[in-house]
Amino acid sequence: MAESGEAPRTVILTVDDDPGVSRAVARDLRRRYGGSHRVVRAETASAALEALQEMKLRGDLVAVIVADYRMPQMNGIEFLERAMDVFPGARRVLLTAYADTGAAIDAINLVDLDHYLLKPWDPPEEKLYPVVDDLLDSWLASDHRPVPETKVVGHRWSAHSSEVREFLARNQVPYRWYPSDEPEGQRLLAAAGEDGLRLPLVITADGRVLVEPDARELAGRVGLATAPSADFYDLIVVGGGPAGLGAAVYGASEGLRTVLVERTATGGQAGQSSRIENYLGFPDGVSGAQLTDRARRQAARFGAEMLTAREVVGLEVNGPSRTVRFADGSAIAAHTVILATGVTYRQLDAPGVAGLTGRGIFYGAALTEAAGCAGKDVHIVGGANSAGQAAVYLAKGARSVTILVRAADLTRSMSHYLVQQIAELPSVTVRARTEVARAHGSDHLERLTLRDTVTGATEEVDAQWLFVFIGAAPLTGWLEGVVVRDERGFVVAGPDLAPGGEPPKGWPLDRVPYHLETSVPGVFVAGDARSESAKRVASAVGEGAMAVMLVHRYLERL
Ligand SMILES: Cc1cc2nc3c(=O)[nH]c(=O)nc-3n(C[C@H](O)[C@H](O)[C@H](O)COP(=O)(O)OP(=O)(O)OC[C@H]3O[C@@H](n4cnc5c(N)ncnc54)[C@H](O)[C@@H]3O)c2cc1C
Repeated sequence: MAESGEAPRTVILTVDDDPGVSRAVARDLRRRYGGSHRVVRAETASAALEALQEMKLRGDLVAVIVADYRMPQMNGIEFLERAMDVFPGARRVLLTAYADTGAAIDAINLVDLDHYLLKPWDPPEEKLYPVVDDLLDSWLASDHRPVPETKVVGHRWSAHSSEVREFLARNQVPYRWYPSDEPEGQRLLAAAGEDGLRLPLVITADGRVLVEPDARELAGRVGLATAPSADFYDLIVVGGGPAGLGAAVYGASEGLRTVLVERTATGGQAGQSSRIENYLGFPDGVSGAQLTDRARRQAARFGAEMLTAREVVGLEVNGPSRTVRFADGSAIAAHTVILATGVTYRQLDAPGVAGLTGRGIFYGAALTEAAGCAGKDVHIVGGANSAGQAAVYLAKGARSVTILVRAADLTRSMSHYLVQQIAELPSVTVRARTEVARAHGSDHLERLTLRDTVTGATEEVDAQWLFVFIGAAPLTGWLEGVVVRDERGFVVAGPDLAPGGEPPKGWPLDRVPYHLETSVPGVFVAGDARSESAKRVASAVGEGAMAVMLVHRYLERL
């Protein structure tokens, strides 16, 4: 098989088992269309089918297929029939000798043939180009947008498919979603040689197929850095939320060799917030994804290295060096570390919920799922600002939004402006003194049993979508025995470690810990993970910046 040109991705494919004829068709096609199309030539039907499958995976577009009728493995009609399974929109031309005109006419009905061409087609200006011009025009008139981005084929209600989509979206990797039970999803599965039992399938922009990928494999294949470029840094930032990104921007911009390590996607909780209204400088609000994407790009521009899909599971102190260990056992070290691991959502503890998570039950806003809720009834559990923001956001598309809250109303737990916004939305209802007692469904959430927290009475309601916002806890178990944490697991720092002006037990220096410094010198904490922190984007960013200033102070005295 031979190809011409690289840049244009729209393809005209020709297949003929006679090498001379094959070359002649390709030559004539290239002469006229080579500048605007890629002309792909094959000499067997199976090579042509293979090429079509590859092009399908790469996201190329096939506009016209020209196939010879008499070929040994399968005739041109059979070939075009198979080609239609891969590119149903491609225009189909059969090349025939005069004696085969009857077969060609039959094929018009059989494979919906667009045209048949009699050999020889000389002069092409009269016999070939007018036909192909017409076919290209009609092909262009229908919707054939190129899909060069990552493609995800998955089951609509699969937790793993949902995780993969969320991961790509949060890492700002453009992708297109194809449910596995729809024709284009099935075509992609067939092109990848998969039967759909192992999902999701991710097809990268360059046509590589990943079956049921984990976050690290996915990150590596879609161009996100997962491996550190050095063994030793000035500063390791653990966590890529606002605090970590703030620290990375200031650290790198002030000349520190900085690496940020994030276990899923940069942005943290803020990256999942549909609209942050109270961040300084954005009077009209800003989506969390937008804000944190800008921060990520800013950190990268200053030279901060950012590793995604790498979870830190250990911190070791080796003299003046601080070692951070990853889940796979590898490690990097630095003079200083900033812990910016934030908090993670608390799980809803009711029978049936765990099994349906990702299948109609989502933690956080799961904004990638919002499109699926259009015109549907949505339930939200939680009474804090995050639940309120999600209600306002989802109400734009959902038929109804019901907020389930244990308290008598929202006023104690939610900001006044959000309570007012919710009151003005006719499709949003607040169901007070209510908790989820059980979730029902086999493949997907179908119903919820709700319990009245005062009377204990239960009621079953139809429900396909449930978003949970019931508070959060720090994920700091891996710091046990290394840095001091409070009774809820938040990291204690600065003056809180030295209440009477006395340094904490085992503190090795003749000064008390700096403001955001933990019980280990040179290890700082910023943002929501810190004991008694403000749990706000602005304060997290501010603490990230301040921690870097304290890193400089620490390094000066090292
Ligand atoms: C839906 C929602 C809406 C919100 N709206 C607002 C708002 O309008 N205004 C406002 O001021 N605040 C808002 N907040 C709160 C705000 O988002 C948080 O206070 C802020 O994100 C905290 O930043 P952080 O960097 O400390 O932690 P996080 O944002 O929690 O980020 C921590 C990061 O660390 C990573 N991590 C954790 N452990 C590890 C590990 N071991 N290894 C590697 N990485 C790790 C996590 O994956 C995460 O990305 C909202 C929060 C939510 C959930």
